Amino acid sequence: MDYKDSLQVIADSIKKAQKFYVLTGAGISTESGIPDFRTPGTGLWKKINPMEYATSNVLKKDPKTFYKVVYSRFASLLYAQPNKAHLILAELEEKGYLKGIITQNIDGLHYKAGSRKVWEVHGHTRTCLCSTCDREYPLKLLSSQVEKEIIPPLCQECGHPLRPNIVLFGDPMSLDYEEACRAVKRGCDFLLVVGSSLTVFPVSQIPSYAKNLAVINIQPTGYDDKAVAVIREKAGKTLTHLLEYF
Ligand code: NAD
Repeated sequence: MDYKDSLQVIADSIKKAQKFYVLTGAGISTESGIPDFRTPGTGLWKKINPMEYATSNVLKKDPKTFYKVVYSRFASLLYAQPNKAHLILAELEEKGYLKGIITQNIDGLHYKAGSRKVWEVHGHTRTCLCSTCDREYPLKLLSSQVEKEIIPPLCQECGHPLRPNIVLFGDPMSLDYEEACRAVKRGCDFLLVVGSSLTVFPVSQIPSYAKNLAVINIQPTGYDDKAVAVIREKAGKTLTHLLEYF
């Protein structure tokens, strides 16, 4: 199927669906200047395997390494701005087609773009949490201590270590993840995957719960053969063309 036919199939599937959801990954934010994990040759994660360092174990046992290697790489997320792809998804929700976005991203760009129903299944970088008393604070409380090399940063109330409000490898999944799975299992007619390699477990299971599925991703994914359409192009350009059908 060529590019135009694939767009037509995706547009028709969206129009027919009662419950249309989108699943996004790091690839939707590369056009906002945030590197993903798996595009070959991208800067930030080239020399570092995130599965080795972005773990709850490293955070607990070796917080200095965690903050130097992992947290410093997330700092660029705080100033990033949504791109066309984020904005178009917000518009599809506004127009009444899109019922919710499930995102693996922690950059908060769907909310910044104006989307309202977003499940941030791997958490976000707006706040931090006390690892003991569970109090939630603005991220600034953590980042200002890290800048002063107070590592681990500490909770104002109980004095125990603070942690970013994100799901690290080895952490239990979030409530948003449980809710998103329930929503898709309850009858998602059409799921559009945008910018995800679909390799990170357990989010990689979500597409299998949808009745129909399409993929917009530069590289192949393990779900391409189950999709009604696959477009291997950039998210910004593809969603701009898709919007012309609505
Ligand atoms: P991934 O890096 O495994 O895969 C991203 C995919 O997006 C790749 O297959 C790549 O080909 C594709 N891609 C890159 N740029 C694209 C574009 N402009 N248009 C379309 N496709 C594009 O990402 P993942 O599947 O989300 O898994 C990585 C994990 O890393 C996630 O759990 C996420 O939490 C985390 N992460 C988040 C951010 C962020 O918040 N922006 C950034 C890096 C990693």
